[in-house]
Amino acid sequence: MVIKFYNTLTRKKEDFKPIKKGYVGIYTCGPTVYWYQHIGNMRSYIFSDILKRVLLFNGFKVKHIINVTDVGHLTSDADEGEDKLEKAARKEGKNASVLAKHYFDAFIKDAEILNIIMPDKWPKATEHIKEQIELIKKLEKKDYTYKTSDGIYFDSSKFKNYGELAKLNIKELKTGKRVAFGEKKNKTDFALWKFSSPDEKRQQEWKSPWGIGFPGWHLECSAMSMKYLGERFDIHTGGQDHIPVHHTNEIAQSEAATGKKFVNYWLHGAFLLNSDGKKVSKSTGGLYTISELELQGYKPEHFRYLCLQTHYGKPLHFSLDALEAAGNAYEKIKRKVIELKAEEHNGNDLTKEYHERFLKAVNDDFNMPQALEVLWSVLDDFDFSPKKKIKLLEKFDEVLGLGVKDMKEEKFSIPKEVKDLLKEREKYRKEKQWEKADELRKMIEERGFIIEDKSDGAVLRKN
Ligand code: AMP
Ligand code: ZN
Repeated sequence: MVIKFYNTLTRKKEDFKPIKKGYVGIYTCGPTVYWYQHIGNMRSYIFSDILKRVLLFNGFKVKHIINVTDVGHLTSDADEGEDKLEKAARKEGKNASVLAKHYFDAFIKDAEILNIIMPDKWPKATEHIKEQIELIKKLEKKDYTYKTSDGIYFDSSKFKNYGELAKLNIKELKTGKRVAFGEKKNKTDFALWKFSSPDEKRQQEWKSPWGIGFPGWHLECSAMSMKYLGERFDIHTGGQDHIPVHHTNEIAQSEAATGKKFVNYWLHGAFLLNSDGKKVSKSTGGLYTISELELQGYKPEHFRYLCLQTHYGKPLHFSLDALEAAGNAYEKIKRKVIELKAEEHNGNDLTKEYHERFLKAVNDDFNMPQALEVLWSVLDDFDFSPKKKIKLLEKFDEVLGLGVKDMKEEKFSIPKEVKDLLKEREKYRKEKQWEKADELRKMIEERGFIIEDKSDGAVLRKN
C-alpha cells in the first residue's frame, strides 16, 4: 500500500517514492546538548520514531541518523549571540564536552523510556569538523562564500532557489524594513565558519584554512547527513521552527556544493504548547522533562500515548490534566489487553480487515488518532477471537510502541491493613449494608487500591 505524507517542500500530501527501492534514508535534527531536552523536544522525536516505525511496518529497510549538536548553535538561529554550549559551560563552570555528555546521556535515557527506537548513528558535530571544513572548501571553490571580520559566510543571493522551502519572499526581505545585518551582504546570508573572538577564550575551537574558530550550526547537518546518507537522500525531519532558517540554509549549502537535489521529502512536527498556547522552550523555562514527570508519578508511556492522540502536524496543548486523561485511556487499554490474554472463548478471525484499516490510517500521513480508533475498535469487538486479537494488537504495536507485549498484571503486595478493610467490606456486602461497604471502599481507595467486584469475589488492583 502506498504511503502518503505532507511534504513541506511542495506543501502537498505526496506518495512516498524512495530513491532506492525498498530502502529509506532519514535524517532527524537532534538535540542541542547544553540543557535537558524537554517534553516539547521529545514530541519531535516521537514523531520521527513513528515515521520510522511506519516505514519499517511497510517493509522498508531504514537507515536513520540523528545528530547531536555540541558546538556552534548560537543563542539566536541567525548568526548572533553566544554559542549555547560555551555559554552553558561557563555558567555551570564545567568543561563543554563533559556538559554535552551529561545532557546527551540524560536525553538518551528519556528517549529509551519513551520507547523511541535508537537511530543507526548519533553523529556529533565536534567529531565531524574535518567534513565540515571540506564542505566549506567546496563552496569556496564554487564562489558561494565570502569573508567578514567574524567569519566565512554563505552568499544566499548566489543560490537561485534560496528560501523555497519556507516560501520566503526574498524581494520583500530585500526591500522591506532594513534590519541591521552588519558586514553580511544579504540579510539571509549565514555563517559557515565563525572565528573565535579575540576577547573570548573558547573551550571548543579548531584550526581551519580561514582561521581558528568553529563551524556554523547549519553546516553540521549538511556535512553529517551527506556523509552517512549520501548527497541525495529521502527524508529529513525536525520541528517546525527549523523551516525558515536552519533547513532553508541546509538546502542552500548542500545543493550549492553538490549541484544535486539534497532531500526529496521534508517533514516537520508541530509544537507542544503550554496550556496558555505558548511554545514550550528551553529559554522560557517552566517546562518538564520526561524524567521529571516520572518522578512526579507520571508514566512515560502515558506521554507517548498523549502524543499519539494528536496528529504530528497539529499543535499539542500540554497540561497535566491532559496527561492524566491520556494516562487513564492508556491504563484502560492495558487492562483490556491483560484480560484478553486470559480469555479462552473462540471467535472470528477479523485480522485482515482490521489490519487494512490500521495500515490505511498510518499510511495516510501518519494519522495516529485514527490508528488509535482502530485499536479501540479491535479491543471492543467481542466477535473477534481473543488470541488473534492479541496477535494483531502486538503487530499494531510495532508502530505505536505502547508496550502491548509487556502488558501484564503488575505484582504488588497488599498491606495487612488493606486486607482487613477488604474483609470487613465483604462482610457488610453480605449483610447488604451498602453504605458501610461504600465507606470501606473509599478507605481502601485512599490507600492506593481499586476494588473490582467479580462474580467470585472482590479483587484488588493497584491504582
Ligand atoms: P534543540 O535541542 O533546541 O535543537 O531542539 C531539538 C528538536 O526539538 C528540534 O527538532 C526542535 O525543532 C524541536 N522542538 C523544540 N521545541 C519544541 C516544542 N515546543 N515542541 C516540539 N518540538 C520542539
Ligand atoms: Zn539540523
